[in-house]
Amino acid sequence: MQTILITGGAGFIGSNFIPYFIENNKEIHVVNLDLLTYAGDVANLSEIDNHPRYTFVKGDICDRTLVESLFKEHNFIGVIHFAAESHVDNSIKNPDEFVRTNVFGTFNLLDVSKEYWMESPNVFKEGFEQARFLHISTDEVYGTLGETGLFTEKTPYAPNSPYSASKASSDFMVRSYFHTYGMNVVTTNCSNNYGPKQHDEKLIPTIIRKAISGEKIPIYGDGKNIRDWLYVLDHCKGIELVFNTGKTGETYNIGGKNERDNLYIVDAICSILDEIIPQKKSYKEQISFVKDRPGHDFRYAIDANKLETELGWKAHENFESGIKKTIQWYLEKYSYL
Ligand code: NAD
Repeated sequence: MQTILITGGAGFIGSNFIPYFIENNKEIHVVNLDLLTYAGDVANLSEIDNHPRYTFVKGDICDRTLVESLFKEHNFIGVIHFAAESHVDNSIKNPDEFVRTNVFGTFNLLDVSKEYWMESPNVFKEGFEQARFLHISTDEVYGTLGETGLFTEKTPYAPNSPYSASKASSDFMVRSYFHTYGMNVVTTNCSNNYGPKQHDEKLIPTIIRKAISGEKIPIYGDGKNIRDWLYVLDHCKGIELVFNTGKTGETYNIGGKNERDNLYIVDAICSILDEIIPQKKSYKEQISFVKDRPGHDFRYAIDANKLETELGWKAHENFESGIKKTIQWYLEKYSYL
């Protein structure tokens, strides 16, 4: 049996990915390395706690000795790298942790993988000819768009927050290991995800939680910022596809053509809640506009044409179908159903 290393698998996307991937890839054992920061929770993976092809290790991707010992113990033939500090607001208050984990942590994983898999530049050790490093990144590296246009893989990088700058740096580090050492790397840049298991601090869980607890629902600025929303399982399917069939050294954008502004999001969630658990007044009356985040990017939108035409990926959910499933999940989590 072959073993791969997944980092950050106790977070939002990783914990949706691992159960899906284990089910779909019956010849692969997964080792999940996660530091369990405030954003990680092993309870997110309770459904595979005792799975025979799953091992959890609590630890830091920046700890070279630990990462080397895991490679020696498990003989990894692949890495799928999710671990990151991921919340833009936190990066404005505490950028140093973002540089440490996102930049240094990614470098550390890359370098240990290269040493373990490669004899010299462009020469793989025997048995590691197919060993692949998949780096998960974001569309935020491209900066912001005006009213029109889409991010393609050729859009120049222009990150605007310490979060996106740290992710852009990690993308460049991955790129350099392909160009310098010939390492088998691929990178995915995805738009905003939503769905089960997302941390309470993020927009959609916050809207649902505040709405049902009768609190004000905070929306930044005028609520006109636009994001391209992708249901998390569609992202997971894209990652698996790129890991298995993506072209070495390439980057792939992932996005579902579901541009919605924050006002639309809050409105849609409140309307669904009004239907499922009606109260005297509409939940919309709890919406409250708060001071905007500094440097808040206006619009992100992804052109996923390359992934769709070259690898055959397609989003299965649109925002309206995905948000219903998501609300249902959070109502159960918050014991409302
Ligand atoms: P998350 O914050 O929910 O989870 C991050 C996980 O990484 C947590 O489990 C945390 O404990 C772990 N972690 C953090 N620092 C670590 C360290 N030093 N060593 C080991 N583990 C560590 O993030 P997410 O939303 O699941 O995002 C996963 C990846 O996808 C990130 O790289 C992020 O940049 C990228 N991404 C996220 C989105 C999105 O909308 N959430 C969109 C595009 C790309």
